[in-house]
Amino acid sequence: MKLFKANKGLHIPGHKNDTSVLHSEKFVTPDFVFIPLSIKGSDFEIYVKPGDKVKLGQKIARRVEAKGLPIVKHATVSGEVVSITDKKTHRTGLPFVCIKIKNDFLDTLSDECKPVENLDTLDNTKLWDIMSESGVVGLGGAGFPTYLKYKDKADIDTVILNGAECEPYVTSDYRVMLEETDRVVDGLVIMMKAASANNGIIVIKKGKKEVFTKLVEATSKHENIKVIELPDEYPAGWERQVVYRTLKRSYKQYPNECGVIVNNVSTAVAVSKAVRDGRPVIDRILTVTGEGILHPKNYLVRIGTLSTDLIKLSGGLATDLGDLRIIAGGPMTGVAQKQEEFVITRALNGIVVLPGFHTYQIPHGQPVGEVLLNVLHFTEHDHFHFEKDEQACVRCGNCVRHCPAGLQPTLLRFASLNKNEELLVKLDVTECINCGTCAYVCPSHISVNDAIKKGKAYFLVRNKNKIKK
Ligand code: SF4
Ligand code: SF4
Repeated sequence: MKLFKANKGLHIPGHKNDTSVLHSEKFVTPDFVFIPLSIKGSDFEIYVKPGDKVKLGQKIARRVEAKGLPIVKHATVSGEVVSITDKKTHRTGLPFVCIKIKNDFLDTLSDECKPVENLDTLDNTKLWDIMSESGVVGLGGAGFPTYLKYKDKADIDTVILNGAECEPYVTSDYRVMLEETDRVVDGLVIMMKAASANNGIIVIKKGKKEVFTKLVEATSKHENIKVIELPDEYPAGWERQVVYRTLKRSYKQYPNECGVIVNNVSTAVAVSKAVRDGRPVIDRILTVTGEGILHPKNYLVRIGTLSTDLIKLSGGLATDLGDLRIIAGGPMTGVAQKQEEFVITRALNGIVVLPGFHTYQIPHGQPVGEVLLNVLHFTEHDHFHFEKDEQACVRCGNCVRHCPAGLQPTLLRFASLNKNEELLVKLDVTECINCGTCAYVCPSHISVNDAIKKGKAYFLVRNKNKIKK
């Protein structure tokens, strides 16, 4: 892919007012937690068996190195292992094998959780090791093991913390920056040390005055850390945009190619807790919101809690909106679930419940003028509400004009639907970030990105097989 200026975005409604002002409530007492491994579970070495007592923060599984990205799993409550073969739905919508633990509500901390006494005595390899053993992954949604961004990366001059949180409805990063401001800055300082980088930047979106003031105050002692505001556009939080808009640098595949590492603000908090307190990732802040939730809230919640526990705590689902869409994550990049119950993972930042598919029915006897007004109102752009009136492509070019990755979504959709591998390569399908902008701007209400997502998955599987052969 050619280098290009990643600065294209559009303003979309944030829908964040319901939860941005709400302090996160602690919910650390689920009866059971389900620690998800993978679809088969056989790629993990499991250290516990049913009946074993476990302590909070204890290592209970590790992915076998040859079978995928190295990841360590921890007990997120103290208690007793009930089973190691239970299946629960993961945020991807797929059934995952989970380790089920019955909570004893004592939170007895594992001896494995040892704080570091003096940060200055640690070299960067030790910091990579702590990040890895503490299960720190991209908490902004990526879920990529954080230490891999740091390990053996040379010539990094800047670490950027991404607090842009451009996904509508979700306010978890916003609350993290307000409630754990010092932890965010501390995490950044540790990450700069882990990367041997001299500079740190925290980016947030314009208009978040309270967060901006707190971050500026918390970073005032650090001359080499800046707080930068990004335009209130989608997808301002895309890594490529963050790097381009803050440093005017571009890269082909990964930011380290231009001397930068980008992490999410919640990940920084996890790094601070792992290094200072010896605490692995056992909890996170997440948002439960949307018109389909009676009392939207932010929670500090244990990993492995079930979504149903949180939906219940939030007053339950609205009963007067017809079918609802329960989304793991936000409406632009999240995954709509087939059922209410799924597991809260480290990378899940929100549960958004929205009115489901609906069609406009002309009420009997309504005056023509009113009918017209209502139809116009109904077809206004609000893709968060999933109108089920997909029309033919009118070749307006909106999707092409607005694609932040500089792709041709309409052609990519065609290639995806036809499984045309040659065209998928030619159109750079792997560069699609599944931001959903193409569907959002489409006047024909076509779920352009859904088709491209499937096309990309098809292409990647086909190529993986080719590489294996
Ligand atoms: S989902 Fe992919 S194709 Fe659509 S606008 Fe985003 S990057 Fe472009
Ligand atoms: S925005 Fe929709 S109607 Fe317009 S070209 Fe793209 S797919 Fe076709």
